[in-house]
Amino acid sequence: SAESAGTIVLPSGEEIAAAGQGTWYLGEDPGRREQEIAALRLGVDLGMTVLDTAEMYGDGAAEELVGEALRGRRDEVFLVSKVLPGHADRKGTVAACEGSLRRLGTDRLDLYLLHWRGRWPLEETLAGFTDLMEAGKIRYWGVSNLDVADMTELATLPGGDAVAVDQVLYNLSRRGIEWDLLPWCREAEVAVMAYSPIEQGRILGAEALGAVARALGATPAQVALAWVLEQGVSAIPRSGSPDHVRENRGAVDLRLPTEALEVLDAAFPPPTAATPLEML
Ligand code: NDP
Repeated sequence: SAESAGTIVLPSGEEIAAAGQGTWYLGEDPGRREQEIAALRLGVDLGMTVLDTAEMYGDGAAEELVGEALRGRRDEVFLVSKVLPGHADRKGTVAACEGSLRRLGTDRLDLYLLHWRGRWPLEETLAGFTDLMEAGKIRYWGVSNLDVADMTELATLPGGDAVAVDQVLYNLSRRGIEWDLLPWCREAEVAVMAYSPIEQGRILGAEALGAVARALGATPAQVALAWVLEQGVSAIPRSGSPDHVRENRGAVDLRLPTEALEVLDAAFPPPTAATPLEML
């Protein structure tokens, strides 16, 4: 692909790591806390420097965990969080971001996303994002779970074309965006971030993935992640286990030959018609 190895490009031209780390369900079990922090830190050490969290996750517990994991090394990462739709009017967006900054123990987010579209007009959220940009509290803003119609509407609002990212469900078993949203984002130069890139583990037992993995001397998770990265999309797998993080990092260096892509296409066919964007 045209991207330099291991990065994706934001509309500003800034490059960020294509393989990052998710945090949904992390920070909720005190018995796992130490291991989860070790996993996140190892990921950063290995270059998985995009950290994705949200005020929703564990009602702030994931952000607090990330804050602890990043103590003393905030500047090494590209930090992403999200505002809940119910908070996403102008003032609420600013207040929600300030809460996230407090839990994360930092003075700024690198990217702030609307988690999904709710009852507030997009103009309201956009005004909040603009206030936060001007205050230096966020460096970029974007959206999540927005399909083509919503993206088109957003792009027509004043300042709406500054949207940096659409974070959406994308993996071998959820290829719908290849029909319309992915081409739309490429054309508009909006970066796409794939969430649940291994379908929360559910696709890892698929026979085709196992066969490709064996042939390449890789693991099913590495093949699934390498496939997402191959599309020019970034991936934010979540793991609370250092061994899995090390394994996931290996996907960045894994190239999938044509024969492997053909096996995967046969087992996980691309879309043949428009389908509404799915979400988890
Ligand atoms: P993932 O597809 O990343 O799968 C996570 C699960 O897979 C965990 O149970 C993890 O367990 C396991 N796992 C990770 N690596 C491996 C491996 N190498 N081998 C075997 N199992 C593995 O699911 P998520 O839904 O968490 O998606 C990733 C991130 O995307 C989220 O954490 C969140 O940050 C974001 N997200 C955003 C959404 C949005 O609406 N914007 C919605 C959903 C997710 P273990 O800890 O044991 O490794």
